[in-house]
Amino acid sequence: MRRKLVAGNWKMHGTRESAEKLVAAIVADFPTHCDVAVFPPFPYLVPLIEQHGAKLAFGAQDCSEHDDGAYTGDVSASMLKDTGCRYVLAGHSERRQYHHETDALIACKVVKALEHGLTPILCVGESLEEHDAGRTVDVVQRQLGKVIEHCGIAVFERVIVAYEPVWAIGTGRTASPEKAQSVHALLRSQLAQADAKIANSTRILYGGSVKPDNAAELFAENDIDGGLIGGASLKAPDFLAICAAAH
Ligand code: PEP
Repeated sequence: MRRKLVAGNWKMHGTRESAEKLVAAIVADFPTHCDVAVFPPFPYLVPLIEQHGAKLAFGAQDCSEHDDGAYTGDVSASMLKDTGCRYVLAGHSERRQYHHETDALIACKVVKALEHGLTPILCVGESLEEHDAGRTVDVVQRQLGKVIEHCGIAVFERVIVAYEPVWAIGTGRTASPEKAQSVHALLRSQLAQADAKIANSTRILYGGSVKPDNAAELFAENDIDGGLIGGASLKAPDFLAICAAAH
């Protein structure tokens, strides 16, 4: 049985004060029936982890593919581990789109995260154009395949996958539970071709306009093991309601 995970990606939103209030509200009503993690902007990680890290898991939205060195503006996986982070996103569609991150680069980031004891959440998903052209399967299999090829299947004992159709992120348009389930099943069977036991234990999250009113039906699907939540993770009542749906 895979335990569900609900992860809140705050992106580049909020202030230190709003971040502290949001985490305090989550911790005050902390769900124990599922795993919960939040991904604040970099500058807020340290104070939040110092105050709430014993109770709530934290993650970063990105990490460098390098260990250290002259890479202005980058943050390494070892630094994130040092702050007390448990998770890191790899290949979020906004990184792929605005920072031109390739499948190969993302695979290198997954390696660095694992080397430093972080759990990477590998994001895959097709754009609207790719979706409308019927290319969903090709795209997500290519994105996942690159990491399997580069890192080997064994890493999926620790890597979490998130299927996030780009056309559903921040748009209010969600993949139907059936559609999301079919893509999740496909990703799991791609993992199973390499190792059925690992595929069965790998958590595959869904992300893309998950809200309190659609979370339960998405999470009820066999291969949906929780959610990666953007907009709704910025409001404690909505985020907690989504967590409540993750049995
Ligand atoms: C995301 O940022 O990964 C995301 C899924 O955002 P939203 O929930 O707002 O669609």
